[in-house]
Amino acid sequence: MKYFSTGKNSASVSFKEALLQGLAPDRGLYLPESFPKADSAIFEKDSFQDMAFEMAKLLVDGEILDADLRKLTDDAFDFDVPVKKVHDNIYALELYHGPTAAFKDFGARFMARAMSYFLGEKKLTILVATSGDTGSAVAKGFYGLPNIDVIILYPSGKVSPLQEKQLTTLGKNITALEIDGTFDECQALVKEAFMDDEVKGWLDLSSANSINIGRLYPQSFYYCWAYHQVKSLGTPIFCTPSGNFGNITGGLIANKMGLPVKHFIAATNINDTVPEYLETGVYRARPSVTTYSNAMDVGDPSNFARMLAIYENRDEMAKYISGYSVTDADTAATIKEVKEKYDYLLDPHGAVGYTAVKRHIEKTGDKETPYVFLETAHPAKFSEVIHEILGINPEIPANLQEYLNKEKVSIPMKPVYEELKAYLKTRKNK
Ligand SMILES: *Cc1c(COP(=O)(O)O)cnc(C)c1O
Repeated sequence: MKYFSTGKNSASVSFKEALLQGLAPDRGLYLPESFPKADSAIFEKDSFQDMAFEMAKLLVDGEILDADLRKLTDDAFDFDVPVKKVHDNIYALELYHGPTAAFKDFGARFMARAMSYFLGEKKLTILVATSGDTGSAVAKGFYGLPNIDVIILYPSGKVSPLQEKQLTTLGKNITALEIDGTFDECQALVKEAFMDDEVKGWLDLSSANSINIGRLYPQSFYYCWAYHQVKSLGTPIFCTPSGNFGNITGGLIANKMGLPVKHFIAATNINDTVPEYLETGVYRARPSVTTYSNAMDVGDPSNFARMLAIYENRDEMAKYISGYSVTDADTAATIKEVKEKYDYLLDPHGAVGYTAVKRHIEKTGDKETPYVFLETAHPAKFSEVIHEILGINPEIPANLQEYLNKEKVSIPMKPVYEELKAYLKTRKNK
């Protein structure tokens, strides 16, 4: 299977090359030239791990030996993926039972293990700037892998205390650089390092960012799993709280591979570039606005290029996807209502998804279909927001609690490129 770039100006590559490159040379995103077809027996498997392996096998198309792939998927997905009934025909696909309590664990863990597999004896250094969540999933995803070092830059004092612990307490192959500056400065430093030929002589660098195909694929597996849980009630409508639209693109891929899906709902906060596009056919990228569901504060979603490549044009895309944009006021009202009426605690991102489901039911009158919204993070990750709305602090799950008792280790640094470069020189490994 070959991978093309959505930029349409780079040569096609293998899965391995797409994975290790991340972004194509023309700055496009990789997608398979055609999607493999999944036998419907795959969607009947009774364990998430079996389903993940079968789907991954089709997608890597022989580039990873079956026995190795089985080990890889079993190791990456060693946690529960429950589908819970919230009420009536509305279900939550809880994607927060992994080590950092957000759905990004799926992508980060699979990508890290796949990269490690292809590297063999070679060494790779992941250099990544984070404003919080992505960094912790990436760090934990690569933690303990023998041939990959991770260096994370984060803005000092600008990530939540829990996030900082997640970045700074791992040790082993994970190093945290605490930058006395902003997230944008961290990102600029990383960018400069990637363009520095001298640094390339010391280290093989990779970004492991969210556009990597290795992070996208596992996000298709759990749609199959949720389908299996609700299919006796009908073919589901999925609702995905979206920012960069990688999570929903996972669902679109599963559907292209043969997963029965009645319809997709793309739920955003007021950063509504894609819902607006679905409505008007005009794509207006713009600066993001801060909301309660801050992991979705994106004004120019990177995976939109992939969505366009999958569907050709707006009319085609709108047949499969409806978009809804949800305000903070409505997000708060939903969190309150769902807690009071159904005793289910949503996080702000899941609340955007649930609200969009309700809007879709109002608009279409379809009350029969099973609806599955993706609950993308544990509410305890957003305890400040939950406290503001409900006056309670969500219980911190054991996997997050673990970090709080560990000691922070970071290397303080000014937002000056020469300082980062001097540090990278000390890490030379080739
Ligand atoms: C990253 C993230 C999202 C958005 O996912 P995309 O793939 O960027 O659309 C939603 N919720 C949470 C909790 C996230 O961390």
